[in-house]
Amino acid sequence: MSLPANEKPGARIVVPVALEGRSYDIHIGRHQLCEAAELVARLAPGAKAALVTDESVAGLHAPALETCLHQAGIAVTRIEIPPGEASKSYARFVALCDALLAAKIERNDLVIAFGGGVVGDLTGFAASVLRRGVRFVQMPTTLLSQVDSSVGGKTGINSSHGKNLIGAFHQPALVIADTALLDTLSEREFKAGYAEVVKYGLINDPAFFDWCEVNWSRIIAGGPERDHAVAVSCRAKAAIVARDEREEGDRALLNLGHTFAHALERLTGYDASRLVHGEAVSIGLALAFRFSQRLGLCSGQDAVRVSAHLDAIGLPSRLRQVPGGTGSADEIVAAMAQDKKVKRGVLTFILARGIGKSFIAPGVAADEVKGFIEAELAAA
Ligand code: NAD
Repeated sequence: MSLPANEKPGARIVVPVALEGRSYDIHIGRHQLCEAAELVARLAPGAKAALVTDESVAGLHAPALETCLHQAGIAVTRIEIPPGEASKSYARFVALCDALLAAKIERNDLVIAFGGGVVGDLTGFAASVLRRGVRFVQMPTTLLSQVDSSVGGKTGINSSHGKNLIGAFHQPALVIADTALLDTLSEREFKAGYAEVVKYGLINDPAFFDWCEVNWSRIIAGGPERDHAVAVSCRAKAAIVARDEREEGDRALLNLGHTFAHALERLTGYDASRLVHGEAVSIGLALAFRFSQRLGLCSGQDAVRVSAHLDAIGLPSRLRQVPGGTGSADEIVAAMAQDKKVKRGVLTFILARGIGKSFIAPGVAADEVKGFIEAELAAA
């Protein structure tokens, strides 16, 4: 299967996100740190920038980006946070706001989020409230953040009540996804991000799912297929976000697999040594299709195809694959009920009538979910 004619190997792909006064572009390509610095300089000539990153990304990539920013005439202050989900906390949010103020970031300046979804979510939230809102640039460095979290303006932190419960919609002014940065990502984190790529095929693009089945190893290897997969994912997300910026309607489709995933992350204590977000999403996608099958909505053939693809990549697709276990069906349902997609105690799921035929199903009975999870836990 060949790539589209407008995606020449090595050329930058630009995906627009159309949001009236808040529109922006996503730039996708390999080795574009200095081009990125030029784009940032054009966005805010003469502005200062704070570069927020985590300690791991800082060690690998921050000096190269800083050199490019300096060459483009941008004065930059680096702010580092510890890597990992635990940084999406009240304490870290307060410390980041104070560090941005100490760096004298003013309304006309820029905040650059340079890292994975953790850095992007935390930094975007801080940018949304700092001096009542400053512009920020997303420079995602994980596959997951390049195909999902850097686009769409959802920002936030976690609470003891659940994930992402404190946050704001704050669109970035620019997104730059340098796909060569993914070369230093661990295989585990890369594959975890791949679950969100597959998700777009499963939501409404069966031809993309077919393409992924054939090309997944090339996406991992880093050829033009990687850029194509990021571009297709970003176009899919941009289209949904343009229709429904604040998740009042079909943006919820992006949560395919996520009600299960958030419950699993909660039950494993957000402990990355057991489960990272994308792995939880992988199990969630497989569960969403098997649950749809159990409800008579989707063929067993499609449910098996989804799990088989995730298995081929080495992603988990079963509850029993969660290291240390998940707890009982009651505990899983209770953890789901903590998710913010619960309205007045009724569970809303994204279910599927087949690959690429997902839909929002409000009012799914908790008993139905519990019965399904009991069967999943009992399965050998
Ligand atoms: P992450 O930010 O924790 O990054 C994963 C790990 O990879 C970290 O240890 C990080 O230091 C390391 N890393 C990052 N870039 C690297 C690179 N280029 N080379 C080597 N190591 C690198 O995790 P993530 O998977 O990117 O993001 C998960 C977060 O995103 C979750 O908090 C999730 O809730 C959030 N999320 C948000 C949205 C949204 O719309 N805002 C959507 C999906 C997920």
